[in-house]
Amino acid sequence: MREVYLDYSATTPTKDEVINEMLPYYKEAFGNPSSLYGPGLRAKEGLTNARQQVADLIGADPKEVFFTSCGTEADNWVLEGVADAMKEKGNHIITTAIEHHAILHTCMYLKKYHGIDVTFLDVDEEGFVNPEDLKAAITDKTILVSIMMINNEIGTVEPIKELAKIAKERGVLFHTDAVQALGNMPIDVKDLDVDFLSMSAHKIYGPKGIGALYKRKGINLPSFVHGGAQENRKRAGTENTAGIVGFGKAAELARINLDEHIKHSKELRQYMWDLINEKIDKVRLNGPKDFDKRHPGNLNVSFSYIEGESILLLLDAAGVSVSTGSACSSGSLDISHVLASTRVPMEVINGTVRFTVGDFTTKEDIDYAVDALSKVVDTLRKVSPVTGKEGW
Ligand SMILES: *Cc1c(COP(=O)(O)O)cnc(C)c1O
Repeated sequence: MREVYLDYSATTPTKDEVINEMLPYYKEAFGNPSSLYGPGLRAKEGLTNARQQVADLIGADPKEVFFTSCGTEADNWVLEGVADAMKEKGNHIITTAIEHHAILHTCMYLKKYHGIDVTFLDVDEEGFVNPEDLKAAITDKTILVSIMMINNEIGTVEPIKELAKIAKERGVLFHTDAVQALGNMPIDVKDLDVDFLSMSAHKIYGPKGIGALYKRKGINLPSFVHGGAQENRKRAGTENTAGIVGFGKAAELARINLDEHIKHSKELRQYMWDLINEKIDKVRLNGPKDFDKRHPGNLNVSFSYIEGESILLLLDAAGVSVSTGSACSSGSLDISHVLASTRVPMEVINGTVRFTVGDFTTKEDIDYAVDALSKVVDTLRKVSPVTGKEGW
Protein backbone atom coordinates (compact mmCIF):
# COMPACT_ATOMS: atom_id res chain seq x y z
CA MET A 1 0.00 0.00 0.00
CA ARG A 2 1.14 3.51 -0.79
CA GLU A 3 1.94 5.69 2.23
CA VAL A 4 1.13 9.36 1.85
CA TYR A 5 2.10 11.74 4.61
CA LEU A 6 0.06 14.96 4.58
CA ASP A 7 0.73 16.28 8.08
CA TYR A 8 3.87 18.41 7.71
CA SER A 9 2.56 20.92 10.25
CA ALA A 10 2.52 18.20 12.92
CA THR A 11 6.10 17.24 12.21
CA THR A 12 8.40 16.69 9.22
CA PRO A 13 10.59 13.75 8.29
CA THR A 14 14.24 14.37 9.22
CA LYS A 15 16.31 14.94 6.09
CA ASP A 16 19.24 12.60 5.38
CA GLU A 17 21.67 15.54 5.20
CA VAL A 18 20.55 16.49 8.72
CA ILE A 19 20.99 12.97 10.12
CA ASN A 20 24.43 12.64 8.51
CA GLU A 21 25.52 15.89 10.12
CA MET A 22 24.28 14.69 13.52
CA LEU A 23 25.87 11.22 13.63
CA PRO A 24 29.47 12.29 14.44
CA TYR A 25 28.15 14.05 17.56
CA TYR A 26 27.08 10.68 18.94
CA LYS A 27 30.49 9.21 18.03
CA GLU A 28 33.84 11.04 17.64
CA ALA A 29 32.53 14.34 18.95
CA PHE A 30 30.47 12.86 21.80
CA GLY A 31 32.20 15.03 24.42
CA ASN A 32 30.51 17.42 26.77
CA PRO A 33 30.67 20.85 25.13
CA SER A 34 31.70 22.33 28.49
CA SER A 35 34.84 20.14 28.66
CA LEU A 36 38.14 21.72 27.72
CA TYR A 37 39.74 18.80 25.84
CA GLY A 38 39.48 17.52 22.26
CA PRO A 39 36.09 15.75 22.13
CA GLY A 40 34.51 18.52 24.22
CA LEU A 41 35.96 21.26 22.07
CA ARG A 42 34.76 19.54 18.91
CA ALA A 43 31.27 19.34 20.37
CA LYS A 44 31.47 23.02 21.30
CA GLU A 45 32.44 23.87 17.73
CA GLY A 46 29.31 22.08 16.52
CA LEU A 47 27.19 24.28 18.79
CA THR A 48 28.87 27.47 17.61
CA ASN A 49 28.35 26.56 13.98
CA ALA A 50 24.70 25.60 14.51
CA ARG A 51 23.97 28.81 16.39
CA GLN A 52 25.25 30.76 13.39
CA GLN A 53 23.13 28.68 11.00
CA VAL A 54 19.93 29.26 13.00
CA ALA A 55 20.77 32.98 13.41
CA ASP A 56 21.28 33.28 9.64
CA LEU A 57 17.81 31.89 8.92
CA ILE A 58 16.16 34.74 10.88
CA GLY A 59 18.64 37.59 10.39
CA ALA A 60 19.82 37.52 14.01
CA ASP A 61 23.20 37.72 15.70
CA PRO A 62 24.23 34.27 17.01
CA LYS A 63 24.50 35.78 20.52
CA GLU A 64 20.75 36.31 20.34
CA VAL A 65 19.94 32.61 19.80
CA PHE A 66 19.38 30.31 22.82
CA PHE A 67 18.72 26.61 22.34
CA THR A 68 15.86 25.02 24.26
CA SER A 69 14.39 21.52 24.41
CA CYS A 70 11.56 22.43 21.99
CA GLY A 71 9.35 25.20 20.70
CA THR A 72 7.04 24.73 23.67
CA GLU A 73 9.86 25.48 26.10
CA ALA A 74 10.77 28.65 24.20
CA ASP A 75 7.13 29.81 24.47
CA ASN A 76 6.94 28.97 28.20
CA TRP A 77 10.25 30.70 28.87
CA VAL A 78 9.26 34.03 27.33
CA LEU A 79 5.87 34.26 29.01
CA GLU A 80 7.01 33.17 32.46
CA GLY A 81 10.32 35.04 32.26
CA VAL A 82 8.74 38.35 31.25
CA ALA A 83 5.97 37.94 33.84
CA ASP A 84 8.60 37.56 36.57
CA ALA A 85 11.12 40.13 35.32
CA MET A 86 8.51 42.85 34.72
CA LYS A 87 6.33 42.44 37.79
CA GLU A 88 7.21 45.93 39.03
CA LYS A 89 5.84 47.38 35.81
CA GLY A 90 2.63 45.41 35.47
CA ASN A 91 0.79 42.11 35.27
CA HIS A 92 -1.02 42.20 31.94
CA ILE A 93 -0.24 40.01 28.92
CA ILE A 94 -2.00 40.24 25.56
CA THR A 95 -2.23 37.24 23.24
CA THR A 96 -4.82 35.82 20.84
CA ALA A 97 -7.59 33.26 21.09
CA ILE A 98 -5.99 31.09 18.39
CA GLU A 99 -2.48 30.54 19.77
CA HIS A 100 -0.92 27.11 20.13
CA HIS A 101 -1.52 25.45 23.50
CA ALA A 102 2.13 26.13 24.38
CA ILE A 103 1.06 29.76 24.71
CA LEU A 104 -2.57 29.38 25.82
CA HIS A 105 -1.89 26.91 28.62
CA THR A 106 1.10 28.93 29.85
CA CYS A 107 -1.19 31.97 30.03
CA MET A 108 -3.72 29.97 32.04
CA TYR A 109 -0.92 28.92 34.39
CA LEU A 110 0.25 32.51 34.83
CA LYS A 111 -3.33 33.60 35.53
CA LYS A 112 -3.79 30.94 38.17
CA TYR A 113 -0.43 31.02 39.95
CA HIS A 114 1.16 34.41 39.20
CA GLY A 115 -1.84 36.77 39.25
CA ILE A 116 -1.34 37.71 35.61
CA ASP A 117 -4.26 39.25 33.69
CA VAL A 118 -4.51 37.92 30.16
CA THR A 119 -6.39 39.43 27.23
CA PHE A 120 -7.13 36.95 24.44
CA LEU A 121 -7.66 38.99 21.29
CA ASP A 122 -10.44 37.84 19.00
CA VAL A 123 -9.72 37.17 15.33
CA ASP A 124 -11.83 37.56 12.20
CA GLU A 125 -13.34 34.65 10.25
CA GLU A 126 -10.08 34.03 8.41
CA GLY A 127 -8.06 34.10 11.63
CA PHE A 128 -6.54 37.57 11.31
CA VAL A 129 -5.87 39.75 14.33
CA ASN A 130 -7.09 43.32 13.87
CA PRO A 131 -4.25 45.75 14.75
CA GLU A 132 -6.85 48.21 16.09
CA ASP A 133 -7.90 45.59 18.65
CA LEU A 134 -4.32 45.32 19.87
CA LYS A 135 -4.06 49.11 20.16
CA ALA A 136 -7.22 49.20 22.24
CA ALA A 137 -6.13 46.36 24.53
CA ILE A 138 -2.78 47.81 25.65
CA THR A 139 -2.86 49.42 29.12
CA ASP A 140 -0.24 50.91 31.47
CA LYS A 141 0.03 47.47 33.04
CA THR A 142 0.76 45.60 29.81
CA ILE A 143 4.18 43.93 29.89
CA LEU A 144 4.07 41.61 26.88
CA VAL A 145 2.24 40.96 23.62
CA SER A 146 2.54 37.43 22.21
CA ILE A 147 1.05 36.73 18.77
CA MET A 148 1.87 33.79 16.53
CA MET A 149 3.37 34.38 13.08
CA ILE A 150 1.44 31.59 11.31
CA ASN A 151 -1.45 29.66 12.81
CA ASN A 152 -0.80 25.92 12.93
CA GLU A 153 -4.38 24.83 12.14
CA ILE A 154 -5.73 27.19 9.50
CA GLY A 155 -2.43 28.67 8.26
CA THR A 156 -3.25 32.37 8.74
CA VAL A 157 -0.17 34.60 8.38
CA GLU A 158 -0.56 37.39 10.95
CA PRO A 159 0.64 40.96 10.23
CA ILE A 160 3.48 40.66 12.76
CA LYS A 161 5.48 43.69 11.64
CA GLU A 162 2.50 45.99 12.06
CA LEU A 163 1.51 44.42 15.40
CA ALA A 164 5.08 44.60 16.77
CA LYS A 165 5.23 48.28 15.84
CA ILE A 166 2.10 49.01 17.85
CA ALA A 167 3.57 47.28 20.92
CA LYS A 168 6.86 49.11 20.53
CA GLU A 169 5.19 52.52 20.29
CA ARG A 170 3.64 51.81 23.68
CA GLY A 171 6.89 50.50 25.17
CA VAL A 172 5.63 46.92 25.42
CA LEU A 173 7.75 43.85 24.64
CA PHE A 174 6.66 41.72 21.68
CA HIS A 175 7.00 37.95 21.23
CA THR A 176 6.01 35.82 18.26
CA ASP A 177 5.66 32.05 18.12
CA ALA A 178 7.23 31.46 14.71
CA VAL A 179 7.29 27.65 14.86
CA GLN A 180 5.01 27.30 11.81
CA ALA A 181 6.55 30.25 9.97
CA LEU A 182 10.17 29.16 10.19
CA GLY A 183 11.29 27.79 6.83
CA ASN A 184 7.86 28.59 5.33
CA MET A 185 8.31 32.32 4.78
CA PRO A 186 11.20 34.77 4.91
CA ILE A 187 11.86 35.94 8.49
CA ASP A 188 14.08 38.85 9.44
CA VAL A 189 13.90 39.71 13.14
CA LYS A 190 15.47 43.13 12.59
CA ASP A 191 12.94 44.07 9.93
CA LEU A 192 10.04 42.69 11.98
CA ASP A 193 11.47 44.46 15.03
CA VAL A 194 10.34 41.76 17.48
CA ASP A 195 11.94 41.19 20.89
CA PHE A 196 11.47 37.41 21.13
CA LEU A 197 10.77 34.67 18.57
CA SER A 198 10.22 30.93 19.18
CA MET A 199 11.46 28.20 16.84
CA SER A 200 11.46 24.41 16.61
CA ALA A 201 13.63 22.06 14.53
CA HIS A 202 11.21 19.21 13.86
CA LYS A 203 8.87 21.39 11.80
CA ILE A 204 11.71 22.22 9.36
CA TYR A 205 13.05 18.70 8.62
CA GLY A 206 15.28 18.70 11.71
CA PRO A 207 15.21 16.39 14.74
CA LYS A 208 12.54 16.39 17.46
CA GLY A 209 13.30 17.66 20.94
CA ILE A 210 15.24 20.77 20.01
CA GLY A 211 14.06 24.35 19.73
CA ALA A 212 15.40 27.85 20.14
CA LEU A 213 14.46 31.28 21.37
CA TYR A 214 15.61 34.48 19.70
CA LYS A 215 16.03 37.19 22.33
CA ARG A 216 16.93 40.66 21.16
CA LYS A 217 20.29 41.83 22.54
CA GLY A 218 19.99 43.89 25.71
CA ILE A 219 16.58 42.62 26.80
CA ASN A 220 16.45 41.08 30.24
CA LEU A 221 14.98 37.60 30.42
CA PRO A 222 15.82 35.53 33.51
CA SER A 223 17.10 31.98 33.18
CA PHE A 224 14.28 29.44 32.88
CA VAL A 225 16.06 26.15 33.62
CA HIS A 226 18.49 26.81 36.49
CA GLY A 227 21.85 25.08 36.92
CA GLY A 228 25.09 25.23 34.96
CA ALA A 229 26.42 28.01 32.76
CA GLN A 230 25.21 26.66 29.41
CA GLU A 231 23.62 28.96 26.81
CA ASN A 232 25.33 32.03 28.24
CA ARG A 233 23.88 31.21 31.69
CA LYS A 234 20.34 31.47 30.35
CA ARG A 235 19.39 27.82 29.92
CA ALA A 236 21.16 25.23 32.06
CA GLY A 237 21.59 21.55 31.26
CA THR A 238 24.13 19.72 29.11
CA GLU A 239 23.37 20.63 25.54
CA ASN A 240 21.62 18.24 23.14
CA THR A 241 24.66 18.57 20.90
CA ALA A 242 23.55 16.30 18.07
CA GLY A 243 20.07 17.81 18.14
CA ILE A 244 21.46 21.33 18.00
CA VAL A 245 23.78 20.42 15.13
CA GLY A 246 20.83 18.85 13.30
CA PHE A 247 18.75 21.98 13.90
CA GLY A 248 21.62 24.05 12.47
CA LYS A 249 21.82 21.94 9.34
CA ALA A 250 18.04 21.99 8.89
CA ALA A 251 18.11 25.79 9.26
CA GLU A 252 20.86 26.08 6.64
CA LEU A 253 18.90 23.88 4.21
CA ALA A 254 15.71 25.85 4.92
CA ARG A 255 17.52 29.10 4.11
CA ILE A 256 19.08 27.82 0.90
CA ASN A 257 15.89 26.09 -0.32
CA LEU A 258 13.35 28.63 0.94
CA ASP A 259 12.06 29.88 -2.43
CA GLU A 260 11.95 26.43 -3.95
CA HIS A 261 10.25 24.97 -0.87
CA ILE A 262 7.55 27.65 -0.89
CA LYS A 263 6.97 27.26 -4.63
CA HIS A 264 6.72 23.46 -4.40
CA SER A 265 4.37 23.57 -1.41
CA LYS A 266 2.10 26.17 -2.99
CA GLU A 267 1.88 24.27 -6.27
CA LEU A 268 0.91 21.02 -4.59
CA ARG A 269 -1.48 22.73 -2.21
CA GLN A 270 -3.25 24.37 -5.18
CA TYR A 271 -3.27 21.08 -7.06
CA MET A 272 -4.83 19.35 -4.08
CA TRP A 273 -7.46 22.03 -3.51
CA ASP A 274 -8.48 21.96 -7.20
CA LEU A 275 -8.71 18.18 -7.14
CA ILE A 276 -10.79 18.15 -3.94
CA ASN A 277 -13.23 20.61 -5.51
CA GLU A 278 -13.42 18.56 -8.67
CA LYS A 279 -14.15 15.28 -6.87
CA ILE A 280 -16.03 16.20 -3.70
CA ASP A 281 -18.99 18.51 -3.13
CA LYS A 282 -20.04 20.45 -0.04
CA VAL A 283 -16.57 21.34 1.13
CA ARG A 284 -15.59 24.51 2.99
CA LEU A 285 -12.11 26.02 3.07
CA ASN A 286 -11.23 27.39 6.52
CA GLY A 287 -8.66 30.16 7.03
CA PRO A 288 -7.64 32.82 4.49
CA LYS A 289 -9.19 32.56 1.02
CA ASP A 290 -6.15 34.41 -0.32
CA PHE A 291 -3.59 31.62 -0.58
CA ASP A 292 -0.73 34.13 -0.36
CA LYS A 293 -1.83 34.96 3.18
CA ARG A 294 -1.61 31.41 4.49
CA HIS A 295 1.07 28.83 5.22
CA PRO A 296 2.29 27.63 1.80
CA GLY A 297 1.42 23.97 2.42
CA ASN A 298 -1.77 24.28 4.48
CA LEU A 299 -5.33 23.35 3.54
CA ASN A 300 -7.96 23.20 6.27
CA VAL A 301 -11.19 21.80 4.93
CA SER A 302 -14.59 20.99 6.43
CA PHE A 303 -16.69 18.21 4.87
CA SER A 304 -20.38 18.52 5.64
CA TYR A 305 -22.43 15.81 7.39
CA ILE A 306 -19.47 13.71 8.60
CA GLU A 307 -16.84 13.52 11.34
CA GLY A 308 -13.19 14.46 10.93
CA GLU A 309 -12.11 11.57 13.18
CA SER A 310 -13.86 9.05 10.94
CA ILE A 311 -12.20 10.58 7.88
CA LEU A 312 -8.82 10.38 9.62
CA LEU A 313 -9.24 6.72 10.58
CA LEU A 314 -10.46 5.58 7.15
CA LEU A 315 -7.71 7.57 5.41
CA ASP A 316 -5.18 5.99 7.74
CA ALA A 317 -6.47 2.57 6.69
CA ALA A 318 -5.70 3.66 3.11
CA GLY A 319 -2.18 4.76 4.10
CA VAL A 320 -2.87 8.49 4.15
CA SER A 321 -1.86 10.52 7.23
CA VAL A 322 -3.76 13.72 8.00
CA SER A 323 -4.89 15.51 11.12
CA THR A 324 -8.35 16.60 12.20
CA GLY A 325 -9.40 20.10 13.06
CA SER A 326 -11.27 19.05 16.13
CA ALA A 327 -8.99 16.93 18.26
CA CYS A 328 -6.08 19.08 19.34
CA SER A 329 -4.66 16.26 21.36
CA SER A 330 -5.42 12.72 20.29
CA GLY A 331 -8.22 11.11 22.17
CA SER A 332 -9.95 14.43 22.78
CA LEU A 333 -13.10 15.31 20.94
CA ASP A 334 -13.05 18.93 22.07
CA ILE A 335 -13.88 21.37 19.34
CA SER A 336 -10.79 23.18 18.11
CA HIS A 337 -10.45 26.61 19.73
CA VAL A 338 -9.13 27.92 16.41
CA LEU A 339 -12.11 26.75 14.37
CA ALA A 340 -14.52 27.97 17.04
CA SER A 341 -12.78 31.38 17.19
CA THR A 342 -13.00 31.75 13.41
CA ARG A 343 -16.73 30.98 13.53
CA VAL A 344 -16.64 27.81 11.43
CA PRO A 345 -20.35 26.82 11.41
CA MET A 346 -21.24 24.29 14.10
CA GLU A 347 -22.78 21.93 11.54
CA VAL A 348 -19.46 21.39 9.78
CA ILE A 349 -16.89 22.09 12.49
CA ASN A 350 -16.62 18.39 13.41
CA GLY A 351 -15.99 17.40 9.81
CA THR A 352 -12.74 19.29 9.56
CA VAL A 353 -9.42 17.93 8.34
CA ARG A 354 -6.04 19.64 8.08
CA PHE A 355 -3.83 18.66 5.15
CA THR A 356 -0.26 19.96 5.00
CA VAL A 357 2.12 19.21 2.14
CA GLY A 358 5.91 19.56 2.15
CA ASP A 359 9.19 18.85 0.40
CA PHE A 360 8.64 15.14 -0.15
CA THR A 361 5.04 15.39 -1.35
CA THR A 362 4.49 14.53 -5.03
CA LYS A 363 1.57 14.98 -7.43
CA GLU A 364 1.11 11.20 -7.40
CA ASP A 365 0.74 11.38 -3.62
CA ILE A 366 -2.00 13.97 -4.02
CA ASP A 367 -3.76 11.97 -6.74
CA TYR A 368 -3.75 8.91 -4.49
CA ALA A 369 -4.80 10.83 -1.37
CA VAL A 370 -7.69 12.72 -2.97
CA ASP A 371 -8.91 9.55 -4.63
CA ALA A 372 -8.94 7.83 -1.23
CA LEU A 373 -10.49 10.91 0.35
CA SER A 374 -13.38 11.09 -2.10
CA LYS A 375 -14.17 7.41 -1.51
CA VAL A 376 -13.99 7.88 2.25
CA VAL A 377 -16.26 10.94 2.16
CA ASP A 378 -18.76 9.09 -0.05
CA THR A 379 -18.80 6.07 2.24
CA LEU A 380 -19.26 8.15 5.37
CA ARG A 381 -21.95 10.36 3.86
CA LYS A 382 -23.94 7.29 2.81
CA VAL A 383 -24.20 6.21 6.44
CA SER A 384 -24.45 9.69 7.96
CA PRO A 385 -27.71 10.29 9.83
CA VAL A 386 -27.63 14.00 8.93
CA THR A 387 -26.88 13.80 5.20
CA GLY A 388 -28.99 16.24 3.28
CA LYS A 389 -30.44 17.95 6.33
CA GLU A 390 -30.61 21.72 6.71
CA GLY A 391 -27.64 23.58 8.00
CA TRP A 392 -25.01 23.48 5.28
C1 LIG B 1 4.56 22.61 16.92
C2 LIG B 1 4.27 23.96 17.48
C3 LIG B 1 4.74 24.34 18.75
C4 LIG B 1 5.47 23.39 19.66
O1 LIG B 1 6.75 23.08 19.21
P1 LIG B 1 7.44 21.76 19.83
O2 LIG B 1 8.87 21.85 19.40
O3 LIG B 1 6.72 20.60 19.24
O4 LIG B 1 7.31 21.85 21.30
C5 LIG B 1 4.49 25.62 19.19
N1 LIG B 1 3.81 26.49 18.43
C6 LIG B 1 3.33 26.17 17.21
C7 LIG B 1 2.61 27.18 16.41
C8 LIG B 1 3.55 24.89 16.70
O5 LIG B 1 3.06 24.56 15.50
